[in-house]
Amino acid sequence: MNLKISALEFAQQVQSGNLSAEEFVAETIQRIQKIDDNLHAFLSVNDDAINQARTIDKKIKSGDKVGACFGMPISIKDNMCIKNSKTTCASKMLENFVAPYDATVITKLKQQDAIFIGKVNMDEFAMGLSTEFSAFGPSKNPWNTDYVPGGSSGGSAVSVSAFECVASLGSDTGGSVRNPASFCSVVGYKPTYGLISRYGLISYANSIEQIGPLTRTVKDTAFMLNMIAGLDSNDNTTIDNKNEDYLSGIDSGIEGKKIGIITEMIGEGIDPTVLSATKDAISKLEGLGATCEEVSLGMVKYSVAAYYTITATEAGSNLARYDNLRYGYEFPVEGYEFNSYISKSRQKFGPEVKRRMIIGGFVPSAGHAGKYFLKAMKVKSKLTKEINEAFKKFDLLIAPTVPILPFKIGEKIDDPVSLFLVDINTVTANLTGKPAISVPYTMSNGLPIGIQLFANSNQDKLLLQAAHALESTVKLPEVPI
Ligand code: GLN
Repeated sequence: MNLKISALEFAQQVQSGNLSAEEFVAETIQRIQKIDDNLHAFLSVNDDAINQARTIDKKIKSGDKVGACFGMPISIKDNMCIKNSKTTCASKMLENFVAPYDATVITKLKQQDAIFIGKVNMDEFAMGLSTEFSAFGPSKNPWNTDYVPGGSSGGSAVSVSAFECVASLGSDTGGSVRNPASFCSVVGYKPTYGLISRYGLISYANSIEQIGPLTRTVKDTAFMLNMIAGLDSNDNTTIDNKNEDYLSGIDSGIEGKKIGIITEMIGEGIDPTVLSATKDAISKLEGLGATCEEVSLGMVKYSVAAYYTITATEAGSNLARYDNLRYGYEFPVEGYEFNSYISKSRQKFGPEVKRRMIIGGFVPSAGHAGKYFLKAMKVKSKLTKEINEAFKKFDLLIAPTVPILPFKIGEKIDDPVSLFLVDINTVTANLTGKPAISVPYTMSNGLPIGIQLFANSNQDKLLLQAAHALESTVKLPEVPI
């Protein structure tokens, strides 16, 4: 059986009776059993998935109404709640936490007859970009298992690229969907802020993060958005997308579109192979009738500092609930007074989460807030102004998704600042709320390079059109696993 089909192909084939959802899901699980000891994309696998797929096949045979996913196996980053399933955030703190409710994205996908094949690995509480900060061990890049798959949604990207599912959901606070998508050669999408409900996504930095799909094609991303985007009364930051159909008009091309190349994202620190891939992509887009020219967003150089200041502050407050009294693992309270009990319980957090919580306690504190937090908020609003100006002149912006190639597991783990800097090209979309997508573009020495496109707020449809146009200019090899 061919597991290497797109989400759209899967849905069409199952609907028409040419493919059995049960057989496909069973074979996918066999593949997970065979290769995932090595890749470690999955933290848990749904042992009822085959039964669920069988039910879908039966419904199709008897002519009952079936949702648009037709039993499609989808993996879910382990920071989204699925009722009665473990949701660990790849943290020892939530190792045994069973979610009591469904996230809105899960409810919506269930209504469309998706099957959740399993929960996938991530950096603990989504803090990181290599999946090395998972408390349960790193995931590996299927293109070369000595290398990181990116993160924090590393398990999502690995599972899609290694054909252990058809599509995945990740979350993107500062690049966590786009970065692993780029490192694993899949499509990764960060929508306009508010397009997808965050209800049931365990918060890291909720003012800027979004759930986003990771898929094999841009059309599959549009398909997933059709399922999960839109207003939700449980998340009052969601926007009404009027049930937009993201697939319609996706083939329209980019003739006549103006594309700005972000100067600060192709400068200092960029790997020469990544730069030449970007230049190549730009000339392809010009070949399709777009015009490209450089545009400067001066605030980009402060964006990483502002991003880590703001996100640590929000994380400090969001993670304060893990005091072992409401959630967490068990140990008795006897013999402790309140503070020592809580500080002992927090020893369960890994090193990166501890670092963020310490920074997050310090930067907004009395006497320091003006110097750090408020300054970071100024950078955020100036950057937003700059990008809004740029979108008066350009329809789209372009940059590499990540300035460097995937690196070796262990190579940067002891140097958090060098890790932070890898986010330079992704955090702008989060700080400004704009949609951005990583499209697999080329390979260098067997390692993938992704190209990133940005659009103005609520121009998600245009962004997908452009990404699809870019995607159609490339032919990439198949994962060697
Ligand atoms: N690397 C960034 C961080 O650690 C991005 C994480 C994310 O998008 N969740 O915060």
